[in-house]
Amino acid sequence: MNYLLRNGRVVDPAQGIDQMGDLRIRNGRIAEIAPTLTPEAGERVVDCTDCWIAPGLVDLHVHLRDLRQSYKETLQTGGAAAVAGGFTSICCMPNTDPPLDSPLLVRELIARATRESPCKVYVVAALTQGMRGEQLCDYAALKQVGAVGCSDDAFPVQSAEVLRRAMLGCAAYGLPVITHCEDKTLSEGASMHAGAISAQLGLRGAPSSAETVHIARNALLAHETGCHLHIQHLSTAFGVALVRFFKTQGVRITAEVTPHHLLLTEHACASFNTNAKMNPPLRSEADQHALTEGILDGTIDCIVTDHAPHAPFEKAQPLALAPFGLVGLETALGAVLLWNDQLPQPLSPIQIVNLLSTAPARLLNLPAGTLAIGVPADVVVIDPTARWQVNPAMLHSKSKNTPFAGMELMGKARYTFVNGELRFEAG
Ligand SMILES: [Zn+2]
Ligand SMILES: [Zn+2]
Repeated sequence: MNYLLRNGRVVDPAQGIDQMGDLRIRNGRIAEIAPTLTPEAGERVVDCTDCWIAPGLVDLHVHLRDLRQSYKETLQTGGAAAVAGGFTSICCMPNTDPPLDSPLLVRELIARATRESPCKVYVVAALTQGMRGEQLCDYAALKQVGAVGCSDDAFPVQSAEVLRRAMLGCAAYGLPVITHCEDKTLSEGASMHAGAISAQLGLRGAPSSAETVHIARNALLAHETGCHLHIQHLSTAFGVALVRFFKTQGVRITAEVTPHHLLLTEHACASFNTNAKMNPPLRSEADQHALTEGILDGTIDCIVTDHAPHAPFEKAQPLALAPFGLVGLETALGAVLLWNDQLPQPLSPIQIVNLLSTAPARLLNLPAGTLAIGVPADVVVIDPTARWQVNPAMLHSKSKNTPFAGMELMGKARYTFVNGELRFEAG
């Protein structure tokens, strides 16, 4: 089926396009963009009045669970959540069970995702074997089967010496080293941010230094080894300041932030809400403001979800025992556009689409994030002002653990195309 997307605001940061117009999808590819296009025979016309026509969103940080954790999420349900949120390309983190630390497992996951997932799936492979922070993986082989980066995410390498060797190895094969920055000796047993609320609740908290100590360490090692270091889910004010500093020093460092760290603070945990328990934790208002500043001045490169599904029985435990994480694919766009709407000077559509699509695609060199003529048509039609209330039961994800339940968000994906096929249409 061919499509004519009509009368929208065509937004493509990659080409610097922000204009009213039409976009034609023919034979799975972007065929034409013009102020007015005439419908052709057999083409479905999609009315995009008051909507943005943008390159499909790209999420560099998704936990797809799958395999032995299929009760939380599968490649199919995770992909369905992605396209419902406007995402056409996502990166699968390696902490599946078993973890993605061998070429065989990476190749297998890519092959299955191609068959089972409604969106495109790329793999971030493990940085160390079993994500145990001891033995390095075979980076040459991982790169060869298509890994786009390496990370131990929630099991960050604690030994600086091991990380240094891993960086040298990854740099040799052009693989970015993607790190969740957490010194486990500082965050041991923590359920939330160490601050006023954790003191009130009598819960152990993780201090900001658990993150910043590792950011500084990792950036210094990246400087020595020359690897591309990508900092995951930045959450602290000093973390933003450190990334800013190391960028001025010429270190190859990039950083991401999540919609929940932009929109929520530690106060979300005050009612012992386990869906507000994540790692890194929601922090103070000062941290939240610093993250916004980090986006505005370009210190932070992109927005990711850190989509982390957990079953209801797991999140039903007391706060101290419940697992970390939230589902984020279907609320990201609404949360980001709401956050943007609250800024004194909101970002332009081109800046928003850049943070959610073009910039992350470039960061990991993914073939996405553009509406260039001739490329596979990964396209999202966004209604940027739609107000909608988050109802967990309506999520496509197998898990429903969202701290945004009941909240009114702003902005929604209306249509999502992957390779020119309509994979999601809002009801
Ligand atoms: Zn993490
Ligand atoms: Zn993660």
